[in-house]
Amino acid sequence: MAAHTPFSHLPLTHPVQGGVPLASRTTWRIGGPARWLLAPASREELAMLLARWPDGLPRMILGGGINLLIADSGFPGAVLDLTRGMNRIYTVTESLTPAGETLLIHADAGTTTQALAHFVRRMGWSGAEFLAGIPGSVGGALRMNAGAYGGQMRDILVEADLLDPQGRAESRTPEALSMGYRHCALPAGWLFTGARFRLRRDDPEKIRERMRGFNQRRRLSQPLELPSAGSVFKNPPSGPKAWELLEQAGLRGVGRGDARISTKHCNFFVNHGQASAGEMRALIDLARATVEHHSGVVLEPEVQFAGWE
Ligand SMILES: Cc1cc2nc3c(=O)[nH]c(=O)nc-3n(C[C@H](O)[C@H](O)[C@H](O)COP(=O)(O)OP(=O)(O)OC[C@H]3O[C@@H](n4cnc5c(N)ncnc54)[C@H](O)[C@@H]3O)c2cc1C
Repeated sequence: MAAHTPFSHLPLTHPVQGGVPLASRTTWRIGGPARWLLAPASREELAMLLARWPDGLPRMILGGGINLLIADSGFPGAVLDLTRGMNRIYTVTESLTPAGETLLIHADAGTTTQALAHFVRRMGWSGAEFLAGIPGSVGGALRMNAGAYGGQMRDILVEADLLDPQGRAESRTPEALSMGYRHCALPAGWLFTGARFRLRRDDPEKIRERMRGFNQRRRLSQPLELPSAGSVFKNPPSGPKAWELLEQAGLRGVGRGDARISTKHCNFFVNHGQASAGEMRALIDLARATVEHHSGVVLEPEVQFAGWE
């Protein structure tokens, strides 16, 4: 007989799992378990779940787990994993406009950014090359307005599909979401279920070359061989970049246990093996305080924290 869960009364496609370790679902390889893990099979099932959510049970969305520091005690509520059941990509329309041939494509929030980037590359559509080395899900990339090398989600986004905390559907443009540098004005409790993106026709070989170039630049400047979350802090709106401030404050290579500030890229904090979330958090707090003391700049974390008091 299936174990009793707070969702036992709901008709769900995939069984609800209890006490699921989350460390292996994050690129930092850090963090405790989820009390419950749910993988809705469709937007409709997710909307039903939200509409009938158990009173007072905390929830969070797990995308690729790339930009998340989950507490050692884990997440005391239910984690929604959209990557299992909500990961379709399909063409909506192709059209010829005065600006050239364009493609409108739909991707579910649980699709990986890599799947999206390579799907359109193979068909000869350009605009998503910047996603080449940005791991994660489409939902997480929208939430963070992920970007690199002159491109960002906002540039290709036409309209995002959302659900409000009660499961009611809505669509919003990038302007309505005030998408900016690593920022998106998503109201608390809302989530992305998918989006439509516009791309333009280009030579597949040129697209592949651009993606290769971006990946090559990353390999040279980022510690890709060790578990990390990418950049820990956002760059300040003006002045030196976050990595420069961290370096100037003498933080290169500084560590707490196995949590260490990379010697290759100061804004990447890496896990040398057994780092705990507590150690990584302590290192982030130390780096922030040291930079403020040294240069007066208060760095804002880009990583998101889950399960902390
Ligand atoms: C080696 C490396 C390089 C990186 N380079 C870059 C880079 O160049 N540029 C860049 O921008 N980022 C970069 N990152 C960071 C990371 O790839 C992005 O932040 C990514 O968009 C996170 O997506 P995710 O699906 O893993 O989100 P998660 O880490 O799972 O979640 C991040 C936040 O988004 C929320 N979220 C996830 N899905 C949804 C949804 N459907 N609806 C609402 N909220 C949601 C989560 O609850 C959480 O608050 C890099 C990371 C690594 C490890």
